Amino acid sequence: MCGIVGYCGKKNATDIIIHGLKNLEYRGYDSAGISVITKDSIKTIKSVGKLDKLEEVYKSNPIKGNVGIGHTRWATHGNVNLENAHPHLNSKNTISLVHNGVIDNYLELKEELEKEGYKFKSKTDTEVIVQLIDFYYNGNLLNAVLKTVKRLVGSYALGVVCNDNPSELIAVRNNCPLIVGFAEDGFIISSEISSIIENTNKVVYMDNKEIAQFNLNNTYKFFNYNLDEIEKEIETMDLNKDSISKNGFEHYMLKEIFEQPDAIRNLLDKRVINGKINLGESFFTAEEIKEFEKIYIIACGTAFHAGEIAKFAIQNFTGRQVQVEIASEFNYNQKFVDDKTLAIFVSQSGETADTLLALEEAKKLSAKTLAIVNAQNSTMTKQADKVMYCYCGPEISVASTKAFTTQLILLYLLALDMAEKLGTLSEDKIKSYLDELKTIPERISEILERKDNFRNIAEELKNQESVFYTGRGIDFTTAKEGALKLKEVSYIHTEAFASGELKHGSIALIDDSTKVIAIISQEHTAKKTAINLEELTARGASIYTITDFDDNTIKQNSKEVIKFARTTDFFAPLLSVIPAQLIAYYTSLARGNDVDKPRNLAKAVTVE
Ligand code: GLU
Repeated sequence: MCGIVGYCGKKNATDIIIHGLKNLEYRGYDSAGISVITKDSIKTIKSVGKLDKLEEVYKSNPIKGNVGIGHTRWATHGNVNLENAHPHLNSKNTISLVHNGVIDNYLELKEELEKEGYKFKSKTDTEVIVQLIDFYYNGNLLNAVLKTVKRLVGSYALGVVCNDNPSELIAVRNNCPLIVGFAEDGFIISSEISSIIENTNKVVYMDNKEIAQFNLNNTYKFFNYNLDEIEKEIETMDLNKDSISKNGFEHYMLKEIFEQPDAIRNLLDKRVINGKINLGESFFTAEEIKEFEKIYIIACGTAFHAGEIAKFAIQNFTGRQVQVEIASEFNYNQKFVDDKTLAIFVSQSGETADTLLALEEAKKLSAKTLAIVNAQNSTMTKQADKVMYCYCGPEISVASTKAFTTQLILLYLLALDMAEKLGTLSEDKIKSYLDELKTIPERISEILERKDNFRNIAEELKNQESVFYTGRGIDFTTAKEGALKLKEVSYIHTEAFASGELKHGSIALIDDSTKVIAIISQEHTAKKTAINLEELTARGASIYTITDFDDNTIKQNSKEVIKFARTTDFFAPLLSVIPAQLIAYYTSLARGNDVDKPRNLAKAVTVE
């Protein structure tokens, strides 16, 4: 997690770094800090909390210089406090370093350094890196960094500066993202494109085990760990500044919820051409798909829910069984994966450490791998055999919305493509499903128009200690996503229950203060779930029902019915999740939370 930024160029490094960190802050916001090389020394400022705190410190301590590094932290080792905030420096304050990632062998290294007389100020794993650089340093920063990273086990993206080499910035990447921007005035390094794009669209994506050296005289070099110089291709990005601004919305989360109709339309335009699914020339052929005996979907959080929902469509359209696994569990469970397995990995950022590790495991077991990712050129896109992009633009809010619905669209298209190649659905049936998908953006817009209604529901939920979601089958999986959304941004304990399972224990929790959100969108279970609502109201619960049915039992048992247009059962989550997203957003707002940056969380979970 966390974000790092570095600059080496003609402008004032501090301004560029602080501005860059603002775009990265959603990746981690426990503390922030910067180090800049000034005329006489390395000047460092740090603060606990969000970036505005660092800006306050900066206002009273303006620092000027042309080379510097910055960090916004999501703590993994050591509490959230000033000592543990990055950058970390050696004891002489001559070398400063920012780190994203986790060093697995830091305790051994720390012990070794302590024997050499090194003293540590922080409880982080990061501090050992800078102390080790100090240990190896003999006037050549690049060599000292190289010797150090060869000793590290774990994940890291690093930015390093040194007082003795005041015109130099060193960057290293291993298993955490790092991008280099080539602006007219100099070089910017960052964990993400969002803090580079305002300066330049010319970028290099660093690969694992690469070191880069930038100099104020406008020269740069990339090396591997053998110190062989490597050629890197400078790519031109087609993102623009608007894609990372709020565009008049109060929060990114609301903006991203409202972007869903266009994002889905755009994706369908790209992937359905002349009425035919087109997943790219190099996508799995019919022969390859026929070879797959097992299908796994592996992901975390919201992306895992997309996998759980899509399972129903893939199984029904192709007749193949699908196993959906939480990535962090998959890695440590017995695996039934072999060269006849298709393993699908879903991740917004393409940098999710748990999912990347699962991908590595699946590859070791010879599975064919497919990544469903939003962030282009991210690590996952380079490691999987095939990639499907969400193309929904940067998702900045920590709570995922538009990435979720576009992941679902891709999974549905995959299900239909496989069905076509396997011959398990007729051409007409596939066409009717594609026609149905095309109606979704308009139907989402209809729900979004009623946004004020969700503000009222949020007012009724905001003082709850807990809220329950319920549904059956596909609706249960959407309910899980609704519950995750509400709990992560409102901090209200929210749990999803399978409607038929309530009576086996959880119904004991229901009394007349309980508020339940029910989802009912499936033809074959709607009646059954409606009866379960009756059981809940009989025990005093107030129920808000998100449904596309006009049913008397539902109406009689609901405090409020939130209607959406009827679509095919498989695609209903694309619509039923929208009220859940809006309820989560407005409840968070009503409770005065920081909607886009919920406590303890961060975007792009790059640690295990
Ligand atoms: N492991 C480091 C720390 O806890 C870096 C964490 C991060 O990536 O933000 O400070």
